Amino acid sequence: MTKYVGVIGHPLKRSLSPVFQQAALDHLGLDIRYEAWPTPEDRLAERVGGLRAPDRLGANVTIPHKQAALYLLDGSDDLCRRVGAVNTIVHREGKLYGHNTDVAGFLRALREDGGFDPAGVRVLVAGAGGAARAVAVALIDAGAASVTFINRTFSRAAELVEEIGPQAGGTELNALPDVYASWRASAISCRLLINCTSVGMAGTKEEKGSPVPIELIPPDALVFDLIYRPAKTPLMAAAEKRGASVLGGLPMLIYQGAESFHLWTGLEAPLEVMFKVARAGLGMKEG
Ligand code: NAP
Repeated sequence: MTKYVGVIGHPLKRSLSPVFQQAALDHLGLDIRYEAWPTPEDRLAERVGGLRAPDRLGANVTIPHKQAALYLLDGSDDLCRRVGAVNTIVHREGKLYGHNTDVAGFLRALREDGGFDPAGVRVLVAGAGGAARAVAVALIDAGAASVTFINRTFSRAAELVEEIGPQAGGTELNALPDVYASWRASAISCRLLINCTSVGMAGTKEEKGSPVPIELIPPDALVFDLIYRPAKTPLMAAAEKRGASVLGGLPMLIYQGAESFHLWTGLEAPLEVMFKVARAGLGMKEG
């Protein structure tokens, strides 16, 4: 029997997951289809419930459902509960279990592709949504000295710090309002600046925007933009001009997807195949 897995989100037209996950499944000769399952908020419970069918292996969960989907599952792992969001659902004998592979995907990309060890480092994060939560937990586990969150909606950043703060150990977590003075004060000392907003994402109203005042980008920092479409965002282009190092969202996307693949199939994901088709999907040259 053909098995099915897919990505649940809204909208999904520009998601790369169906492209590189299907290529990986086909490469290993598995009789599994990976589909895009666009799901508005009012259909989420029905969509997640449908994963209990015998031919469903599970799903990825993306914007805007990562937090809401957590409450529709039979169980979730420790990481999911710490982040407060799920990005991977696994179906086993009628029960649904949540995992969060964004945390490991982010750290692997930062270390392997960014060549950056966040231990003891001061970090500045733009955004306070689901991705920022995964980044917060990852940076705590990696021993960052401090993580400051600046978000358009200040209350959301404050809530993130309040909820994740108790597990922060030696990492100082701060929330600041999205005003120039906050950016200026925090950018000076940060060595890692991360964009966890959708500002700069292709196909949105803010596709030409930067979430951070460009003149404040520290020239000696690594700027990690979680956005993967376009491959080089306006923030990355501006950071390069200022002499900073940059890292885009593609490696994180592939690594989190590879972990999800392993959870559904029990097999190691063919990373090279995934990278190759994803780069082609973004119109990037091989490299
Ligand atoms: P989310 O929970 O919906 O959060 C979106 C964030 O973007 C919020 O902080 C939101 O601020 C901010 N934002 C949206 N529009 C804005 C605007 N016009 N001006 C300023 N801030 C704005 O989404 P998410 O899951 O955290 O994802 C965030 C980004 O990370 C997306 O671009 C996503 O593609 C990317 N991502 C990449 C990967 C990867 O594997 N590479 C994984 C996860 C996420 P408010 O709170 O004020 O609304």
